[in-house]
Formats: sequence, C-alpha cells, structure tokens
Amino acid sequence: MSERLSTQVGQEIIEYILTRKKMRNMRMRITSKREVTVSCPLHTAIADVETFIAKNIDWIKQSQQRILQNATSLEKYEYMTGEKFLFLGKEYTLMVKEGETREVTAIGDYIFMTVYDLWDFEDKRSMLDKWYKSQATKIFADRFSYLKFLHKDLFNGQYQLKIKKAVSTWGTCAVNKAVITLNFRLIYAPLELIDSVILHELCHLYYIHHDKDFYDLLATLDPLYKEHSKLLDRKYIDYTHYND
Ligand SMILES: [Zn+2]
Repeated sequence: MSERLSTQVGQEIIEYILTRKKMRNMRMRITSKREVTVSCPLHTAIADVETFIAKNIDWIKQSQQRILQNATSLEKYEYMTGEKFLFLGKEYTLMVKEGETREVTAIGDYIFMTVYDLWDFEDKRSMLDKWYKSQATKIFADRFSYLKFLHKDLFNGQYQLKIKKAVSTWGTCAVNKAVITLNFRLIYAPLELIDSVILHELCHLYYIHHDKDFYDLLATLDPLYKEHSKLLDRKYIDYTHYND
C-alpha cells in the first residue's frame, strides 16, 4: 500500500511516496526520477516518518542533485573523441576516427571507434550500444559459469542465463524455469557488482522471497551484499534508464 504525502523541512516542502510493509527498519530511496520513496514498518507513526526525512534531508538533496547531473550528462553524449564512458566500473575515453570499416575496441583506458561518418550520431550510438551488448553477453556468461563452478555444491542444476534491457531491475530469476535474466546495463558496473547480482538471483533458486533464509544464504556467498546493492543503486541506477 503506497501513498503520496508531503512534509515541510525548513522552508521546503518535500513530497514523498510512503509504502508500509512488513519490515523492521525504515528505509529511504531516491528514484531515478528524483522521487523520494520511504518504506516503513506497518504501524509507524507519520511523525516518525517525517523526523526520518528531516534527519536525512542533506542526503536527499545530494542524491537528487547527483541524479540530475548524471541524467543531463548522459543525454549530452555526442560520441566524440574525449567523451568518457563507463565499462566494468572504469572510465574509458572515447577516440573516434573516420575509416573504411565500422569497428569498436577497448584498449587500455580508451575505447577506439572507427566510423564511416564522424557526424552520423545515430550510427555511433548504435555501434557503441552493440559493442556494450556483445561485451555483456560474453562477460556475464563467463561470470555466471565461474560463480556456478565456485559454488557447485549449491548450484549444480541446468540454469539458463538471459540478458535483457531492463528499466528498473538489475536481475530476475524465474525459479520454475531456472532462468536468470540480467540487465545488460550491468556492464557499466565493476565485476564484483555484476557477481553480486548473479549470486542474488542464484539464491532465489532456493528461496523465492527476500526473507531471512534468503539473506542468510546470500551472506555466505556475498558477505558484502548490502554494500554491493547500495553501490549499484547509488552509482549505476541511472544507467538502467539510459537510451530506453
Ligand atoms: Zn531478489
């Protein structure tokens, strides 16, 4: 059950979406649309929610500001030499030149791109997108096999890996079909964060819900899962919306 509410902090009205859930502690998130969402235990008083928001006002402002900056910088890409792109959590500098071929390769800190026409923006965008997708296909499959092998006592069945463009999730697990789907935009994040999503989804093969058993198992496989998921949501969530 969610409701749209507002509260005054200093001179400012903060609008937020409140969801009451069976949970222990209040939690807050800023969505990629810069909306404040709060989840709280079922019987929390509104006054407590408002205090929680007021206490975290600096964090709210900073997160909204950061999302705004990232969003505009993503839209501003012209795919010209010197622009920075993320790949596996590292920043790469794009180097574009005209030539007889259409090619993308990453060497050192650079992504080299050869195009027919330096000013064909759409072609450059689609080439780089394809390159990211092909990297994601290879790298996610490698990590998936590796993690299954590392925990072969737990995951010895036949599981299928799929990669999709998703808007709001990093991964899903269709337990009955034993299919794990990863968001291809995870390719912007470092390997350890990609691994943490794979491990999370693999744990769903044992426990469908995010209950204690689920997190106990996840913690044995990915002891830093909390930090990993925070990092993904704070640093890379905007990339789930890019170009969709
Ligand atoms: Zn889950």
